[in-house]
Amino acid sequence: MSDVPGHQATILTADPGAGYRAHAGAIDAAVARVLRSGWYVLGKEGAAFEEEFSAYQEGGYTVGVANGTEALELALQALGVGPGDRVATVGNTVTATVTAIRATGAEPVYVEIDDATMLMDPAALAAVLATTRVKVVVPVHLYGQAADMPVIMALARAHGAAVLEDCAQAHGARGAGRLAGTWGAVAAFSFYPTKNLGALGDGGAVFTRDAALAEELRARRQYGWRERYVATGPGRNSRLDELQAAILRVKLPHLDAENARRREIAGRYLAAWGETGLTLPVTAAGREQVFHQFTVRHAARDAWVRALRERGVVAGVLYPVPVYRQAAHARDDVTLAVTEAACAGVFSVPVHPGLSNADVARVIAAVQEGVV
Ligand SMILES: *Cc1c(COP(=O)(O)O)cnc(C)c1O
Repeated sequence: MSDVPGHQATILTADPGAGYRAHAGAIDAAVARVLRSGWYVLGKEGAAFEEEFSAYQEGGYTVGVANGTEALELALQALGVGPGDRVATVGNTVTATVTAIRATGAEPVYVEIDDATMLMDPAALAAVLATTRVKVVVPVHLYGQAADMPVIMALARAHGAAVLEDCAQAHGARGAGRLAGTWGAVAAFSFYPTKNLGALGDGGAVFTRDAALAEELRARRQYGWRERYVATGPGRNSRLDELQAAILRVKLPHLDAENARRREIAGRYLAAWGETGLTLPVTAAGREQVFHQFTVRHAARDAWVRALRERGVVAGVLYPVPVYRQAAHARDDVTLAVTEAACAGVFSVPVHPGLSNADVARVIAAVQEGVV
């Protein structure tokens, strides 16, 4: 927080410190419990968190890993993805989605997004699948809204492709009555501190309802061991440690209430900003958002961001450049007009549950006064 004397504190896009303070007593106790236990990696806390997260997902298997990027990578590898394979995803995501795909040796195939939701467009996916052999489809449930999963699942099934859901921004989101992460063969979650369910360091998980796939993932996250000290297949080290697991166990029971608070704040913004000229977020029919971000669009995005900054509100730009236009992943053969227009116009205003009602009122006023 930057406090200029005589001014109110700046309101940040994300505030993991507030997430700690809201549960400080319980987190401190959980951390002390782990420190005294003498067991710090893959122990009781991790196993209990995996059980509790699986219960939250309404049944299945959770495999805790080191972070969301490795959750994606391990899930792809467990699905058999390797060099020469193609994996379909979107261009408007955090770089990590593509980092993970390319780490397996596979090539990303970029699918255009829907202009209203900024999520993978099923019609565009259908066109890609008709001409390209794709091993796995990775829809990204961006900003806290699930992609159009019933249609994406049907298309993938018809073309023999598996589905890996990138749920890093969608803990608790629903579509057609189902939780994000329960549609595809497997789902990847991140518990980076700013996520809707955030640790106080790095963390991630792979979720699946397939027992054999869960078994494979458990081996892969620890050197390929299926029994201690004996590797029977490929693996690496990607473990969720006991401190982070214990902290996540404190925070998980509050996830639904915190998501509800995000929705309540979003509802106030939607009610207040109809006349601002901003394109406001759209929730598709049958979906329940968890507003990881409250992302709006405007052609004069940079002027908006400056105007809000002058009024003490920090807006994030997620994401300014499609992954296929970033130097490390540049692809001259890809042009997706809707994706590029979205990246040029988006900005996200603070919507996290650490905001007080007074903060929310300040954000509302800053946007109303900041109109450019
Ligand atoms: C945060 C995020 C990731 C990566 O998670 P890390 O834990 O930072 O590795 C992947 N995909 C999306 C959509 C994300 O938001």
